[in-house]
Amino acid sequence: MSPTCTHLESVQVTELPAEIRGCEDCLAIGGDWVHLRMCESCGRIGCCDSSPNRHASRHAAQRGHPVARSAEPGEEWAWCYVDDLLIDPGPR
Ligand SMILES: [Zn+2]
Ligand SMILES: [Zn+2]
Ligand SMILES: [Zn+2]
Repeated sequence: MSPTCTHLESVQVTELPAEIRGCEDCLAIGGDWVHLRMCESCGRIGCCDSSPNRHASRHAAQRGHPVARSAEPGEEWAWCYVDDLLIDPGPR
């Protein structure tokens, strides 16, 4: 019995961009990040909740974009900020 995310219809972008410079908001303010996430609604790159500024979750809350995936090399999992749920990568 595992909970399921009901927000997958909001997913528009699953492929990472070819080149990721870093968290777009941190680059703008000169901040540091730990790990990167990509919003799957609009493709924005933000930093994870272990980072000082938590731009990915802030973006999710502000824009109402629920799902972000890892933008780390080799990681394909996604996270739903609304459900607090890990979404395993799988055939989409
Ligand atoms: Zn969800
Ligand atoms: Zn950031
Ligand atoms: Zn977004």
